[in-house]
Formats: sequence, C-alpha cells, structure tokens
Amino acid sequence: MTNSTADITLANNYTPYGTVSHTAGSGDSIYAYTGEQLDSSGLTYLRARYYNPLDGRFLTIDPSRLESNLYVYAMANPVNYIDPSGYITEKEAPDAEKIVRELRIYNVFVEVDWGMQYIPSIRSINTISNCVWKVGEWELKELVELRRGVIDLSRAMGGLNKFIYNLGYIDVYKTQLKSKAAGGEYYMKVNNSKHNLDRWTVVHELGHSWDAKNGWSWSNGLVQFTMALNPNTKPVTCDPNSRLPGCNKAGYVYAGVPAAGSDINFDAREDFAESLAAYVYPNEAYKRVYGYSNDKTYKDFLYYADFRTTSRWAYIDSLIRLSIHLQQQR
Ligand SMILES: [Zn+2]
Repeated sequence: MTNSTADITLANNYTPYGTVSHTAGSGDSIYAYTGEQLDSSGLTYLRARYYNPLDGRFLTIDPSRLESNLYVYAMANPVNYIDPSGYITEKEAPDAEKIVRELRIYNVFVEVDWGMQYIPSIRSINTISNCVWKVGEWELKELVELRRGVIDLSRAMGGLNKFIYNLGYIDVYKTQLKSKAAGGEYYMKVNNSKHNLDRWTVVHELGHSWDAKNGWSWSNGLVQFTMALNPNTKPVTCDPNSRLPGCNKAGYVYAGVPAAGSDINFDAREDFAESLAAYVYPNEAYKRVYGYSNDKTYKDFLYYADFRTTSRWAYIDSLIRLSIHLQQQR
C-alpha cells in the first residue's frame, strides 16, 4: 500500500501538465489529472489509443495540442504501449486501488504489485520521464472477482463483523502455484500465470482459511457428519475420471452429495471448501453439475437440484450460526 501509493504520488508530483495540486497521502487524488488537467475526452481518447496502437484512429489525433503529452506517455509508458496482456494498466489503476481499499475493510489485504516506478538513473528535464508504469501479476477482472467473493461470503456469514470474526485477516498475493489458487490460515495465494480467478474459487479458498483457522475442525466435522470415510460405502470399481465417491487418493467418500470438480485429490478439506462455495452460490453449484445430469452414473450423488435442500447445506449453515453464537458470547 505504502509502496504503490508513494510511487504514484511521486509521479503525480512530477507531472508536467500544470496545475496538479499536490495532495500527498490521498489515494483518491492520484489520477485526478486524467479528468482535470486536460480536456477529459481528449486525453482519455489519447490514452485509450495507446493501449491499442494498431487502431488506425490513433493517427487522426491532432498532435499540435497533445504532442508533448504524446512524447511523455511514449516515454513513460513503454510497458502499456506494447502490453495487451490484461494486466492492470495505468488507466485501470484507480479502479484497482478502489477495490484494494474496499477489501481492507474486510481485513483482506491485497499485495499491490503494480504502479508507477521511479527510475532515478534516467536524466531528463521532464522528470515524469523518470517514472514508468509497471504492471504486476494482477488483472482488474480478478480483483473484481476477489471483491465479489469476499462480499458474498461476508453476506452469507451475516455481515462484515462476522466475516472478520471468522477469518481474522487474509493476505492475498500472487505467486507460482500448480492450482488456480490456494487458501490457508490468514492467506490466499493466487496463481500468477493462470488468470481466471473467479468468485467461486475465492469463496472456496476462504473456506480453507476459515477451516484452517479452526484447526481444520470444520472439515473434520463434515467427515463425521457425512460418514465420508466409511469403507462400506466405497464403490467396487472407480470410473475413469475418478469422480465416483471414494475413488481418490484419500479414500474419501462423498456420501451422497459430492462437490463438483471432485477428482483424485478430493478429500475432506476440499469437500468442505466446495460445500461452502455451493452454500454461497447454490445456482452456480447447480450449473456446475448440470452437464452430468444425463449421466446415470452420477445420478445419486451429484447435487442436481437445489444445494439448499442438501444435508451439506444444513451443516454449513449450522457452522455459520455457531460462529455467530460464539461471537455474541465473546
Ligand atoms: Zn481447495
């Protein structure tokens, strides 16, 4: 936070566009120049073209009024100029920073890895040329999904205070992972090469965080609740996709209502995390298994209909009520 804000504020200090009033420490003022320093539509248009340099209309911009800015932007934003990746651009940064600030209210702290970078080794009269935009590993749409998942789980848990009571705090950061994301006590890691984080996954990982913070007793409780390790309910043969109950490394039996996406690695912790996601997103849960609805093999243990009618729903619901009860007793 300090890092990103400081860097960008620095850039703002050096902006050559004239009348930027220096407001150090206020994140909201960082990008004011896009609206205030120039005719807003003109500048927006200019910058939009910079993100899409192959667009022929780029050449139709009258350079007489903006050429100094053209020069500055070309110098200052070489990364944006050539970067079609979807990573957070300078233009998207205000939206991204807004989400980061909103998430802090939930004690969810995103490690900001994008922002203006000051390069003191470059000497120039226009000192903004010493600042370059540095993309990080985050995409704006991933932050949108992160916020959505946090808000939806918070609502399911009964509000902000209960969410914080249940999870404490969560540090969220990008890193190298085999999976899409990973959740544990006080952290959520997000894969820095797969950019498809969705709200379901966010709730799933926060489920791991909640479970971990309670010494994994929530998933252990689920095992007791569903008799998921009962060897008598294991199938005699396993299907090729290892989606049948008990056909996984852990010998875990889904006992009636497996989570979608269950595979060879499925175990009690995954079952709990998937069940929590299905609790928060019952319609999405239905959609996830809909493709199997014609497959008789899965008929007895996928939640075709409403997840809210399943015993797993009742289990998750009781945990959430228990956490509310415990909070009130504190
Ligand atoms: Zn998981």
